[in-house]
Amino acid sequence: MASSRKSHFTTIELIMIILIFIGIIFAVIPGYRYIANTPVRNAHKIERKHINAQIQLFFVNHKDFPKSMQNKDWTTHNHALWQTYFPDGVPEKCTFGDPWIIQNNQILITGHTKHE
Ligand SMILES: [Zn+2]
Repeated sequence: MASSRKSHFTTIELIMIILIFIGIIFAVIPGYRYIANTPVRNAHKIERKHINAQIQLFFVNHKDFPKSMQNKDWTTHNHALWQTYFPDGVPEKCTFGDPWIIQNNQILITGHTKHE
């Protein structure tokens, strides 16, 4: 007497299992994206800290702070000092295209919180 083996799952149960797996995948993707962007976030933070260090160095050398993140404001007595601090030019924007703004003589994270 031949007996046919039947699946232990009904169609509805299989669909529910598939939907649960899809839910798990969508729950994991946002976390994966955050981890994948970590090097970019770290690079942004390092760039911001580097600029702040250059602002402090500018003050130590010239007893004045640069007023903005433009080459003209890293210049004193007609000497283009910005080349000393940023050989490729003063970075006006971060890697995400938002402007670096000097407030209280430093670059704040304001406006860049989503980048770090
Ligand atoms: Zn930014």
